[in-house]
Amino acid sequence: MREQQIVGAGLSGMVAAMNLAREGYQVTVRERRQTIGGLTNLPGLEGRIINIGDGSPIDLERMKAYTGIDFAPVAVPLKSCRNHVYGRQFDLTFYEGVPTYLVERGPRPTSIDVYLYELALAQGVQFSFGDTVSDFESLPPDTIIATGLFGESWSELEVPHLPVYGYLAMGEIDEEDAKVVIYFDEYTRDYAFYSQVNGCRGACLFSRGKPLGVEVKDRFRNQLADNEGIEFDHWDAVSIGALPVATWRNPRLFAKNYILSGTLSGSMDPFLLFGVHGALVSGKIAALAVRDHQAGLQEFKRVNKYYLQGYLIALAYQKMPLWLLQRITWTGIRNYPWLAPLMKTRVFKMLPGFARI
Ligand SMILES: Cc1cc2nc3c(=O)[nH]c(=O)nc-3n(C[C@H](O)[C@H](O)[C@H](O)COP(=O)(O)OP(=O)(O)OC[C@H]3O[C@@H](n4cnc5c(N)ncnc54)[C@H](O)[C@@H]3O)c2cc1C
Repeated sequence: MREQQIVGAGLSGMVAAMNLAREGYQVTVRERRQTIGGLTNLPGLEGRIINIGDGSPIDLERMKAYTGIDFAPVAVPLKSCRNHVYGRQFDLTFYEGVPTYLVERGPRPTSIDVYLYELALAQGVQFSFGDTVSDFESLPPDTIIATGLFGESWSELEVPHLPVYGYLAMGEIDEEDAKVVIYFDEYTRDYAFYSQVNGCRGACLFSRGKPLGVEVKDRFRNQLADNEGIEFDHWDAVSIGALPVATWRNPRLFAKNYILSGTLSGSMDPFLLFGVHGALVSGKIAALAVRDHQAGLQEFKRVNKYYLQGYLIALAYQKMPLWLLQRITWTGIRNYPWLAPLMKTRVFKMLPGFARI
């Protein structure tokens, strides 16, 4: 039986593992955490678990056909969201052509992480927990590296990246409904959001490339409390990790002798930074690349075709004067009802694979 190592038991690592196990590989996934979705030990978050809802557009039927995995049991539909855009509030009902979901991340039985883990175990995948890979040179060629935003792999594998910083708050809520509130404000050229799903809730304010002053956290915290009545006991200043948005050539399937997968491979849209969709799709592509480098590379390029477009939009957004940015964003969001059909063909096609699987 052929053996295959995968580093990282996150979304892309587990999709890759299952696809290879189905084809008869003996797969071992090496994971730094002690349990699935457990303690991350991110700088600033020692001793805390990231248990939060990640939002993403996903076409569940096409994703199932592509990866061979049915995500419906852990994808909670999200029909609308509230946006606070430079001081103005807009409630949007999502365009039905772009089905949107929240997936819970973390160690609870309702999370996507635990769901994938159990499916992978049932398919014979082996896991080695508490197993931090730091000596990449010792890995066999074609090992899949799927270490996400976390850790040292970016520098070790010489993958260009931008650090991402933020403030994070998490807790529980006595409410099952899924909900998202997003803030675009002058304190970050990215955004801040609150999400709740399956009774867990979290808020995250982040910024690519630049650490944020503590006054920014206080401002967001007050906005959430004043506008939405949402409060948390505790906020952490976190170094969230690395993002594949440092250059227009970021996406790459191979580095040194290894196959990359998930966010590390650049399978993230560079503008809104949705990482879930690309991670699921790229897990499948990494498995394909184990069998056939050329076929994998071809598929990787096809799926990431719109990266450059997203990169340039993100660059313009980061550099634009604030007054212009505010006007463009307000106008766009006010005209959302008739712009919505363009979301599928223009905006979300930048998500790796969204319009192409
Ligand atoms: C707070 C937060 C909120 C987010 N919100 C959203 C959202 O709303 N929508 C969205 O689309 N995306 C969101 N993301 C991004 C999304 O979570 C990631 O892009 C996605 O999980 C990437 O999947 P992956 O498979 O590449 O990595 P992950 O799912 O992160 O898995 C990587 C795994 O590798 C392990 N690992 C790392 N280094 C090593 C090592 N050296 N040795 C062994 N194991 C290692 C990690 O412990 C982890 O289990 C968010 C991220 C964060 C942190």
